[in-house]
Amino acid sequence: MVTHLPDVRYLSGFTGSSAALAVTRRAVRIFTDGRYKTQAAEEVSAARVEIVSNSPAVSAVQWLAAQPGVDEAGFNPMQTSVADLARWRASLPGRLRRSFLSSLPDSLIEPLRAVKDNEELAVMAEAALLGCTLFDHVLRMVRPGVPEIEIAAELEHQARLLGAEGMSFETIAASGARSALPHGRATSNPLPRRGFLTLDFGVILKGYCSDMTRTVYLGKPKAEERRAYDAVLEAQEAAVAAVGAGVSCGDIDEAARSVLRGHGLAEAFTHSTGHGVGLEIHEPPRVGSGQKTRLQPGMVITIEPGVYLEGRFGIRIEDMVAVTRTGGQVLTPAPKALIEL
Ligand code: ZN
Ligand code: ZN
Repeated sequence: MVTHLPDVRYLSGFTGSSAALAVTRRAVRIFTDGRYKTQAAEEVSAARVEIVSNSPAVSAVQWLAAQPGVDEAGFNPMQTSVADLARWRASLPGRLRRSFLSSLPDSLIEPLRAVKDNEELAVMAEAALLGCTLFDHVLRMVRPGVPEIEIAAELEHQARLLGAEGMSFETIAASGARSALPHGRATSNPLPRRGFLTLDFGVILKGYCSDMTRTVYLGKPKAEERRAYDAVLEAQEAAVAAVGAGVSCGDIDEAARSVLRGHGLAEAFTHSTGHGVGLEIHEPPRVGSGQKTRLQPGMVITIEPGVYLEGRFGIRIEDMVAVTRTGGQVLTPAPKALIEL
């Protein structure tokens, strides 16, 4: 049973908002509703499409239960609500309610999705480059007095005009003391005369997400601000340099964290170093302290250390990096040296 839509898309190519996929040794069937009749026929070639009038997941459960030789159906508990499971169970004949549906210990699809093939890598590189183009574009309108939301809105408007299907997440544009909020969404606050502006954003292109952060400065930074920026940049570059096949995610995190520790900024780095990215903006592997997952060629992760000094300022620098056989390839080549505007 595959009900998580990005998994359904990954396996079948179907991009609609309502679907479930049932896979047995012999057959693959995708269930969706009448709104997607034409679209499903166009997008799906490797599975038989069935248009249903009730819940696609319930239909998938019932179809699986009716297949000869199928005694059990596994589902991903991370993507299943208590209510879903109750509804699926209730749709089964009494003798199957207790034992037929079984919770899988690990997602079967996540490890497949974590390693991108060349076609996926090409799309992700394109999405990442589009992000860089947008950054370059909005830099031109960064000046004191412009509201944060104007920067975010222009970025999103241009993204659509340049072919993005949407944004990967709500654009973060946080300036001045607000840059100390790691997830400061854009507000009507005007950009300050003097202070940092953090822009964290991503586009969706052919289903794949990009993600990047740059922090720029309006005016002339104080010595302490420049020191903090240089420390984050050093940490970010150390972690990027540590990327390679076989390296554990915990070691990547430590590469960034140890640099900030050396600068006395360990406490100000309040989140993990990065995350996998693909059809979803956050997907495995997690690049955090103690994470044992080893990087494999084809994985795409973000490297995004930051420091946040409450009430004063914050800085984050984020790249997308594709793991290759010999190291890491940065997909977001926008400049990282501190830009003063
Ligand atoms: Zn980001
Ligand atoms: Zn990110």
